[in-house]
Amino acid sequence: MRADRTTARRTGRGRLSTVGGAACVVSLAGQSFALAGEISIEDRLVALKQAYSGYVKDITPTHIVMRDGSTILTDDKRPKSFSEKLENADIEDMLSQVYPVVGCEKPGNPRVNFDPGRIRNERFFKAVYGHVKSNVVRKLVNVDWFGQDIKVNGAFGLPEKLAAVVEELRPNLATLKQFLVPSAGGFNWRPIAGTDRLSAHSFGIAIDISSAKTEYWRWAKSPAGAKLKARNVLPEEIVAAFERHGFIWGGKWYHFDTMHFEYRPELIEIGRLAKERGC
Ligand SMILES: [Zn+2]
Repeated sequence: MRADRTTARRTGRGRLSTVGGAACVVSLAGQSFALAGEISIEDRLVALKQAYSGYVKDITPTHIVMRDGSTILTDDKRPKSFSEKLENADIEDMLSQVYPVVGCEKPGNPRVNFDPGRIRNERFFKAVYGHVKSNVVRKLVNVDWFGQDIKVNGAFGLPEKLAAVVEELRPNLATLKQFLVPSAGGFNWRPIAGTDRLSAHSFGIAIDISSAKTEYWRWAKSPAGAKLKARNVLPEEIVAAFERHGFIWGGKWYHFDTMHFEYRPELIEIGRLAKERGC
């Protein structure tokens, strides 16, 4: 992982120097545009390629090329509302919000509709993890989650990474148990509540920790028109342990889902790059 990060950084800086001007203004397919944050779209795509090594074979000026030869449009250039991004995300939309790794959370965040990781290009995840349920089921591996079997996708050493999270949290289990067990589940081929889009659980890349203390934005009782706000905060050591192994936390989303962790190594890598550049 360390070696990958170094490579990504070096490649990213090299590419940046060819872009010129402010780091946040980049050129893709001959067209310049600005992105929030200080990580260029080129850096983000390099992080994506590194994170899904072997599955993302190449990045052209307009597409990413997958291992099976299929291509996915990087940027459809369409202005979209937040809900349109959720419904019909291109790769640029998916990488547009920088996930704040531990140490980069800002007071007042998450701002409205700041949901880094919730905007997903479904074609991408199907190409990586499986197009239909039976494809994914064949790849599932059991992980021992403090005595409970949790099924996750076997790709990318994901089971070993989740097992490493378990080992890092185990020494403090007496305190953390109330948040961690029983897990509310790993693999589950199902749509996201209230939508036709597949949940990250469908690909075996998400785990829900204990539901006992969870908060979910759809259940939150906010006065009409008021900003959503989660009340609870997990102990940071839980979030940090997951992040160290490539998982993002749904508790950092404006549309929060505080029991949800999801393997999104590209977003962790982009978040680390942002942290190195002062968040
Ligand atoms: Zn979940």
